[in-house]
Amino acid sequence: MFSKHVTKDISAYCHGELSSEAAKQFAEHIISCVRCRTKFEEIKLGIKLAEQLPQLTAPDSLWPEIESALGRADVTPSRVVSVKPSRAWRVQMAVAAVVLLVISAAGVWLYNNRTLSSGSGPPAWQVTRLSGTPKIGSENIGHRGLLSVGEWLETDGSSRVQIAVGTIGNVDIDENTRVRLLETQPTEHRLELARGKMSARIWAPPRLFFVDTPSAVAADLGCEYTLSVDDKGDGRLSVTSGWVALQAKERESIVPQGASCETQLGTGPGTPYFDDSTPEFQNALKKLDFDKDPASRSEALASTLNNARARDTLTLWHLLPRVNEGDRVRVYEKMESFAPPPAGVTREGVLRLDQQMLDQWRVALQGSWSIGPGKGFPKGGDKLKGWSVDPFKDPIKK
Ligand SMILES: [Zn+2]
Repeated sequence: MFSKHVTKDISAYCHGELSSEAAKQFAEHIISCVRCRTKFEEIKLGIKLAEQLPQLTAPDSLWPEIESALGRADVTPSRVVSVKPSRAWRVQMAVAAVVLLVISAAGVWLYNNRTLSSGSGPPAWQVTRLSGTPKIGSENIGHRGLLSVGEWLETDGSSRVQIAVGTIGNVDIDENTRVRLLETQPTEHRLELARGKMSARIWAPPRLFFVDTPSAVAADLGCEYTLSVDDKGDGRLSVTSGWVALQAKERESIVPQGASCETQLGTGPGTPYFDDSTPEFQNALKKLDFDKDPASRSEALASTLNNARARDTLTLWHLLPRVNEGDRVRVYEKMESFAPPPAGVTREGVLRLDQQMLDQWRVALQGSWSIGPGKGFPKGGDKLKGWSVDPFKDPIKK
């Protein structure tokens, strides 16, 4: 897996120039290789910054001076080290600065141009009709169509489509669903799910593919998942492989394979839970997350704790900062009964929400939260061996 580093392909990947097979191999490699991923993050950031650079034009009056400086032969490297900069040196610096400006302006232009002109016209995703008569805007689509940035795609009760998300994955759109393409850049792909249901399979590095719903944003961390939104705007995320982050305002839920998370308008993401937890546990958790009545929530916490299994520390860990101080003691004691905190993590620290201690405890528990082989994640109960993606780091910036 680590045999061939891919740093030389980063630029090509960021500009969408790799074949889909090569792009897939690239993405899979950097999910598991810290060295290449670090380099990739740097370059991705550089591209984002370049996009925000203003395009400046050097004033006309500067050109004659630059030309005369360039024509002068007496600028030698030895002059550069003189303590008091000569006029020639200052001119040389000015030339260098202008050349840099010109290069970066050209770079921005080139970058924008390459991004926008891959294919012809504005960036768009290929849509394949699976059944029925789906629409893009008001137009029915035939076997294939193109979804451009800003356009809505809508399916009725008998139509379904598959969307290719650039070279990084596929999204299946179910019946009675409305989605809009918000952005597609090598550094960020974003879809809006207004209602209905979609399933995503993404083989990109973490946090490149986002789905906005009315009550939370789903950020892909290298995974497969389904996401649905009902007519009220409330949603539900279920993860079948890898991890997904569900986020709104200050609240973030990290949902692993085999787990789900509800989200509601006004509250945002609830607490993640494993799909194989008991119905009593899930019902109580839903009340705890979304019921406004304090008495009802207190009762719901008791039932959540009573019905928790060892693996449900996924849920309990997320609850620690979300409950009041009195209830936090109850959550802590339940967690401790399943898995005492590791060395260096104290009861007092956890109760005052010391972030470092919460992270340490989470890392110790994480092995029991992942099941089966997921992309970039340990097989079975392997602790942290080979765990090169930390889904809890780098929170989403919307
Ligand atoms: Zn590598």
